Amino acid sequence: MSKLIVVIQCDKVVHRCSGFACARAFYQRTGKFQDYAEDARYMSMSCGGCCGADVAAKLGHLKRKLAAAPDFGSAEDIVVHLSSCITSVNFHHGPCPFKNYLVKLIEGKGLSAVEGTYVSKKAEAKRAQGIYKEF
Ligand code: SF4
Ligand code: SF4
Repeated sequence: MSKLIVVIQCDKVVHRCSGFACARAFYQRTGKFQDYAEDARYMSMSCGGCCGADVAAKLGHLKRKLAAAPDFGSAEDIVVHLSSCITSVNFHHGPCPFKNYLVKLIEGKGLSAVEGTYVSKKAEAKRAQGIYKEF
């Protein structure tokens, strides 16, 4: 079955962001999605709020659902991305202080974690100029 790309969004940011830029980057195969095949599929979920512990439960739920629905794929098809607003300082602030914990939770579920999604040229420039600074 084709890859199932799961984007984890910051629960704080998701109250203000539709996830448009992440989805567009996926469908246009840009940013951190550039190497995926045309038939790769997309889903997104929030981290569930600080400290992100709910990610383990959500990914566990997804794996169980896939195990019961092999027509939709299997756990081997899942690749989890942490959204760029989690992994880097940006308009919404970030990076998430629990980022490494989130990676451990994902890997603890036997899944691979990729850092980043949509890559904003504007945000990259502001980081380089020191306008966006980490806490
Ligand atoms: S990276 Fe951008 S588009 Fe994606 S969830 Fe974060 S703020 Fe929204
Ligand atoms: S744990 Fe990180 S990603 Fe999740 S809501 Fe808190 S700051 Fe956002």
